[in-house]
Amino acid sequence: MKRLEDKILAEGLALSETILKVDSFINHQVDPILMYEIGQDFADHFKNSGITKVLTIESSGIAPAVFTAMALNVPMIILKKQTSKILKDHILQTNITSFTKGTSYELTLSKDYVSDADTVLIIDDFLANGEAAMGAIRLAEAAGAKIAGVGILIEKAFQNGRQRIISAGYHVYSQARVSKLGKDIIEFTDAD
Ligand code: 5GP
Repeated sequence: MKRLEDKILAEGLALSETILKVDSFINHQVDPILMYEIGQDFADHFKNSGITKVLTIESSGIAPAVFTAMALNVPMIILKKQTSKILKDHILQTNITSFTKGTSYELTLSKDYVSDADTVLIIDDFLANGEAAMGAIRLAEAAGAKIAGVGILIEKAFQNGRQRIISAGYHVYSQARVSKLGKDIIEFTDAD
């Protein structure tokens, strides 16, 4: 998605050869017009997949996921990183190792919101090693849902997330695929 690539080039900051900072429009401050366009693009890509719910992981996936859900006219569900005292019973959980923080957490989904009647689209801001996306897939499948695919804003194509998800048999669509990061370097690829 050209608009997203241009924004990354204008405002993104490569903190190292593996970490891209996009706090000014995704992770801290949010650009709502860009998020609207991102939602339209995901909805267009997945329009024939029979999606009934959009799933995302708190917190940075929420903005693009809600615009995607709005464009598809379906509900959006937030997978929680902490178990809520209110949820307690009736929940599904899976362990995730965070790429940026190096810590692990329990990703949580209430069975109230996803069932075997659902086909879900998973949206997240970044794809690195595929930990978060594979965890979201495990939870949705444990709830009985079918997986339409995974939609990613920024894939780091030099990490193995895409390969992991594809090898497991799922479709991945990334709006921007970063092939290289370094001091003053942000490069993109279209190749698989
Ligand atoms: P994965 O689970 O695919 O290994 O990593 C993806 C998750 O880690 C995303 O949900 C995102 O929050 C975070 N992440 C991974 N790489 C980056 C990065 O380069 N920049 C930012 N801002 N977040 C990242």
